[in-house]
Amino acid sequence: MIPYGRQDISDDDIAAVVDVLRSDFLTQGPAIPRFEEAVAGYVGARFGVACSNATAALHMACMALDVGPGDIVWTSPITFVASANCALYCGASVDFVDIDPVTWNMSPAALEAKLEQAQRDGRLPKVIIPVHLMGEPCDMEAIGGLARRYGVRVIEDAAHAIGASYRGSKVGDCRYSDIVVFSFHPVKIVTTGEGGIALTNDPEISSRLNLARSHGITRDPAQMAGEPHGPWYYEQVGLGFNYRITDIQAALGLSQMQRLEEFVEQRHVRASAYDAALDGLPLTRPYRNPESRSALHLYVIRLDLPRIGKSHRAVFEELRSAGIGVNLHYIPVYLQPYYRALGFREGHCPEAEQYYDEAISLPLFSALGDDDQQFVIRKLREVLE
Ligand SMILES: *Cc1c(COP(=O)(O)O)cnc(C)c1O
Repeated sequence: MIPYGRQDISDDDIAAVVDVLRSDFLTQGPAIPRFEEAVAGYVGARFGVACSNATAALHMACMALDVGPGDIVWTSPITFVASANCALYCGASVDFVDIDPVTWNMSPAALEAKLEQAQRDGRLPKVIIPVHLMGEPCDMEAIGGLARRYGVRVIEDAAHAIGASYRGSKVGDCRYSDIVVFSFHPVKIVTTGEGGIALTNDPEISSRLNLARSHGITRDPAQMAGEPHGPWYYEQVGLGFNYRITDIQAALGLSQMQRLEEFVEQRHVRASAYDAALDGLPLTRPYRNPESRSALHLYVIRLDLPRIGKSHRAVFEELRSAGIGVNLHYIPVYLQPYYRALGFREGHCPEAEQYYDEAISLPLFSALGDDDQQFVIRKLREVLE
């Protein structure tokens, strides 16, 4: 089976991990700050707080913005469940802003209309979490502008988007948001096995992220309620978690970061080959804003089902039986049973539901070979024609 995504591990990556295994620190050693500096330096953010996974990073980000009971957080329905769950962890409630039918990212027009209505109802969200689906940057100028106008904070779920840029600035530089989160899961662009990072330019938010990552504990006398009792002293000044990453993982990430540009470039080569080969087939190819550079985490097509004359499921299953590990990113989050039980119903975000009826993710990763890609294209043509 050709997977839809997979990691790309080099001998240098392996050597970097082995070096840590032979060193003094398996965790909380020197590789973690070096990795944080490498990611923050690459995107142009002031602070990076690496942690166990991007779900933890999203949770830490909500905690750092003081999301709690009575607060409302909005995200896109076409995302992984973690983008919404992070608000529920904090006791807040969640709602969804429909996607744009062309970009498939959070629609600025839908966001504006929903903010106007929420202001009239006195139910403005505290935080909105746009998601850069497939690595294609959201319209952050519009979303950031609306957030400022309504006094709403912004966390970018950039799990798909390390290596992307938008209007000349790297996704992750927090130009349009308070916090940006990346994931280092193996299917994403750069991997640490499991891992994530939260980036910010605000020193206060950075210190809150650090507390959330490690039990709410500080060793910095400036953050303590009282005087240190001695060199052993630390204080728990809030309630945090153990969301730390290990040095083993950070060393892998640091080594992978050296190939980030190469990974994204290889994804572009593959995506351009799909773009050319799929032209004219009864499907929509993924949108790419000419003012942005996508990180191309995913290559999603939308089927023109009336022209194909088969069901979405039939096309999907035929591709799977041909040995192609197609996938579907994503089921609208609010249609999950857990969210339905919170009161969400079909019809809440019609564009997202239509997307779900038509979308299929084709294999795309940096090490995807030309032969395998040609096989995918040939099979897709056979199934659709
Ligand atoms: C993968 C992903 C996450 C969660 O990342 P983990 O590192 O696996 O916790 C969050 N949001 C989106 C959009 C993702 O794709």
